[in-house]
Amino acid sequence: MHSPTIERRGIMLVLSSPSGAGKTTLARRLLTSERGIEMSVSVTTRNPRQGEVHGKDYFFVSETEFKRMRDAGDLLEWARVFGNYYGTPALAVERALAGGRDVLFDIDWQGAQQLNEKVAQDLVRVFLLPPSGEVLQQRLEARAQDAPDSVARRMSDAAAEISHWAEYDYVIINSDLEASVAGLSAILAAERLRRERLLGLSDFVREMQKAL
Ligand code: 5GP
Repeated sequence: MHSPTIERRGIMLVLSSPSGAGKTTLARRLLTSERGIEMSVSVTTRNPRQGEVHGKDYFFVSETEFKRMRDAGDLLEWARVFGNYYGTPALAVERALAGGRDVLFDIDWQGAQQLNEKVAQDLVRVFLLPPSGEVLQQRLEARAQDAPDSVARRMSDAAAEISHWAEYDYVIINSDLEASVAGLSAILAAERLRRERLLGLSDFVREMQKAL
């Protein structure tokens, strides 16, 4: 059966959560199981953690370089998180969307708010919650890469991040990774079918009506 391809607007899928809720793992799983969606790689002034790759996990830049990019208008949104700067390079996102691909963003509530002010119609916001405060604490403590004071700080910052949960379109409680992956895939599938994103739908239906 011939399945028609209908031109549609790309989705900007934002995934936010407190640090330690499993966001990075969930994002990776979605990218391996879904086609037509790519990760937005942010710039940051924080130091790389062990195993992180420049250009893949982040573009690690100096504060001077970050501010140059920000002031030149190269960033779609930016924020200061845990004392470091983070931002989304605009060009890669624009290219992906223009090429008909969706983009996944691992950004905080400040970034989600800025995108909502700029590109609300293309935005789908998902907030990921840990199953409990205790589990969140255990996960942060297990991250030996972070200095102890940084763990304590991230724990208190988690409360601030979580306080923004109601600004999101969807909330997933990450008790079971497989269920969370399935939930996120379902959100993506449904949002891809939204009538207002399907730019080619009017023409498609008009053509069909001719044959009726
Ligand atoms: P981490 O240092 O653990 O990789 O990230 C810390 C926080 O910064 C996470 O909540 C992450 O979502 C957020 N973050 C990462 N990149 C960006 C970005 O480009 N913009 C904004 N607003 N937040 C970001």
